[in-house]
Parts: sequence; structure tokens; C-alpha cells
Amino acid sequence: MSLDNDAGTYKATDKKRPRVVILGSGWAGYALARTLSPSKTTRVVISPRSHFVFTPLLASTTVGTLEFRTVVEPVRRLGNVEFHQAWACEVDFASKKIVVEACTQDEAAAKTGIPLEPGERYEIGYDKLVIAVGAWSQTFGIEGVREHANFLRDVGDARTIRLKVLQAFEKASQPTTSDADRKKLLHFAIVGGGPTGVEFAAELHDLVHDDLAKLYPELAKFVAITIYDIAPKVLPMFDQNLGNYATELFRREGINVKTEHHLNRIRKEGDTLVLSVKEEAGGEVGAGLVVWSTGLMQNPLVKQLVSKELRMPASSGDNGKGGSVVRLAKDDKTGGLHVDGHLRVQTRQPSDPSGVVEVLPDVYAIGDCAVLDEALPATAQVASQQAIYLGKQLNREAKEASSSAATPAPFKFRNWGTMAYLGSWRAIHQKGSQELKGRAAWLLWRTAYLTKSMSVRNKIMVPVYWLITWIFGRDISRF
Ligand code: FAD
Repeated sequence: MSLDNDAGTYKATDKKRPRVVILGSGWAGYALARTLSPSKTTRVVISPRSHFVFTPLLASTTVGTLEFRTVVEPVRRLGNVEFHQAWACEVDFASKKIVVEACTQDEAAAKTGIPLEPGERYEIGYDKLVIAVGAWSQTFGIEGVREHANFLRDVGDARTIRLKVLQAFEKASQPTTSDADRKKLLHFAIVGGGPTGVEFAAELHDLVHDDLAKLYPELAKFVAITIYDIAPKVLPMFDQNLGNYATELFRREGINVKTEHHLNRIRKEGDTLVLSVKEEAGGEVGAGLVVWSTGLMQNPLVKQLVSKELRMPASSGDNGKGGSVVRLAKDDKTGGLHVDGHLRVQTRQPSDPSGVVEVLPDVYAIGDCAVLDEALPATAQVASQQAIYLGKQLNREAKEASSSAATPAPFKFRNWGTMAYLGSWRAIHQKGSQELKGRAAWLLWRTAYLTKSMSVRNKIMVPVYWLITWIFGRDISRF
């Protein structure tokens, strides 16, 4: 591979090792880069995030049970990987080039309100392209959500949430704060009753109950944690029995679960937020923090790619001047990229959006942005299994130096079960008709996530921090 400085273009020159360009460094992209053999392929990762985040343990970092560094893996630590900290902005499938915009500016500067300069744009060539850009948080266009609510998708989000929780306690403890304002400041609202919202509520309850109640005993009576969901029940992916267990446990722990509640708006009023909730008496509720976790929407890059018509080369060397006009096939429900059983991105004729399907040569999609015929959940399990499947396939193809090597069996998802932490060392786990709840499920939850941690460093650090928290309590320093 070489950089053509004049054109600002990275070009493929190493014919022996196909250049596999991966967009994204999440569960799908990072796991794929790990699986690809550096001796058989040139691994290129393009992502605005220079690290991978182990999302199942992210909620634990919002309350200081775990430190932030225990859930991240820097991409460059993979070694022998060409990394570009950049957004992929456009893809020219005919000439096999991606236009990227560098984003190496200091994230902290962005938070001071100083507008970030747009990054330099340049092109990167590929032999194989894997789109693994995930999905974005869904807000349903509700007023004030993007401005005032907190999402929980990256360590930066976890750091902000931790700071806001601790600041709310400090502010509430000041003698000049009225009891009415204490009640608002210490109301922590979680919107969305899926596993992310529920696990954050559970971790927050642990922090308040185990640590903050001892440090701020006079404030305990003002603290409230509420989960709002528009659906009639929380944790819909679990059977009724486990759902009831979770709801009953939360009731005993004092976590309010308000199902069939519809949030209309969030606005700021002084130091607190005001939530307009349709089903609430009086319609308005004060809160010190709102954590938003209501599902996923299409990534803007995917939205842009599926909206364009593409002219495919009629033959090699045609370079996009002839051939048929197609569109990437998208899933009508999620807006994701339709892929076949081998995770190859599919195309359709623009005039016949539900008609004949073909595959786009050398382009794959995996993880939350990809949709197979068999509907699979948007989870880390699916993303990492797809990454490993595709990585092995691309290694095999590179070894046999031909993409027409024996066609492998299509991707098959193996469900390892679904888990959720419920606080106070209790969890639930379901695999088919098998159910586990309470302490045994919590032990399984911890063991599973410890063994799934990517690096040896984090496999050591995670239990060390669990032990430190157990002995000394959670870290409540604010910086
Ligand atoms: P992501 O992990 O979201 O990664 C997308 C990557 O693409 C990111 O690196 C992003 O920066 C990058 N990107 C975005 N746009 C561009 C662009 N234009 N160009 C280049 N790069 C781009 N699943 C489970 O199975 N079990 C769990 O316990 C679990 N817990 C979770 C807890 C939390 C808090 C969250 C948020 C999710 C959880 N999930 C869990 C879901 C799981 O994390 C996702 O399904 C998984 O991350 C999807 O992987 P992905 O690689 O497709 O997307």
C-alpha cells in the first residue's frame, strides 16, 4: 500500500495481500480486524473512534463499578493494522474508493462549545469493503432529547453520566438548595425498558444504595429512579416469568417502572430538566438526569448509500461507464443494508425495488447495519459471530487467491442466550426455554462477560476492579 501524496489517495499496491477495508471499530468491525490474518490480508480500519467499546459492561463504568479503561481496546493495539481516524463519507463502488473525512480533533474541545473544523478529506482504495458502521440512537424526533438527554453508547457518554450523577448529589447537598429542587435533582429518569435502560437503572441503584446513601445520608429520602417505556412491559425479549421477576425485584428495590408512559418533550429549567409525560398527573416531572435508550435508527452513511443509484461496471476495466444501474437493497423496517447468507451486500433494480436481487462484488455488511432474511436481534453476539464468520472466509479466499474458492456454508447465528443485570448481585438469563434468575444468573453474567472481554489486559483488570469496588466501594471522584 502506498500514499499518493499529490492526490491525497491511499492506493492498493500489494497484490499478494488483498486490502480489506473495514468501516467501523465496534463489535463487528473490531472483531473482524482481529480475525483477519495480517499475513494474508492488509487490514485497514476507518472509524471516528480509535477504540473498541465492550458495551455489555459500559453501564458498570457510569457508576464507577468498573473504570473506563477496562471496557476499551485501542484499535492500533491490534498491531499491523492501517488505522484512519475518520468518518467514511462516500463510497464509489465502481472504482472501489472511499472518501473519508479525518476527525482527529480533541473531543474535549468540542465540549467547550468551540466548533470543530471540518477534517481533511481524502480517498482510500479497497479490494474488499466491509461496512460495519452500526446504528444510531433513535429519538423519534421528540423535542429536547438530542439537546438534554444522555445516550449510553461510548465511554465519553458513560463519563458524562457519571459526572452528572455525582454533581446532582453535590448540588443537592448544598444548604442553599430547596427540598423541592433536591427532589428534582435526584430524580434519575431512564427512557426505554430494554436491557441497556434496565441495566443502567440497576447499576445506578447499586451506586446509590451501596455508596452514596452512606456518604449523603440526609439525601436518601429524595432519591428516585424511574424507567419509562411506551410498551406495556419492560425487557420484552425475556419470557413473562423473568420479566415479572425483574419488575418485582425493582419494586422491592424502589426503582419505579412506568410502562405505557409516553414522553413528549424534555426542556431545561435552571439546573434541572423537565419531562413532559402524557400519562403523568399534571403532565410534568422534574429530573436531574435523563438517560435515553429507546432503540436504534439507521446510520447516516447507510441512509446515504441506499438512497443513491449506482452504475456498475459491465466488465472489468469498464470503470463505471457502462453496465446496469442498481440501488443497494435496504430493509424496509430498519433501513439497514440487506445482505445474503454470506453477508454480501445485495442490490436491486431501482425500477423494481422488490424484484430481482444481485450481490455487489466485494462488498459486505455486518453487525447492526446489516439485515439478513432471517431477522436477527441487533446485539453484540450477532455482530461478533458475523465478524468471525466473514474474517475466516476472507482469510480462506486470500489463501486460495480466488474469491471463487469453494463457497462456504451460509452464516448461521448460534444463540448463547440473553442476559440482563438487575442490581444487588442478581440477574436473569434465558436461552430458549431454559431460564435462570437471581445470584446464579448474576454469576453466569459476570463469568460470561469476563471470558468475552477481548484482551488479556482487560481480562485481568475487570476482576481486579470488581474486587476493589467490593472492598473499598465505587470511585466517586469527579474530574
Ligand atoms: P457498533 O458497535 O455501534 O460500532 C459501529 C462503529 O462504526 C463505531 O466504531 C462507530 O464509531 C463507527 N462508525 C459510525 N459511522 C461511521 C462512518 N460513517 N464511518 C466509519 N465508521 C463509522 N449486545 C449484546 O449482545 N449483549 C449485551 O449485553 C449488550 N449490551 C449493550 C449495552 C449497551 C450500553 C449498548 C449501547 C449496547 C449493548 N449491546 C449488547 C448491543 C451491542 O453493543 C451492539 O449490537 C453492537 O455494538 C453492534 O455492533 P456494530 O459493530 O454493528 O456497531
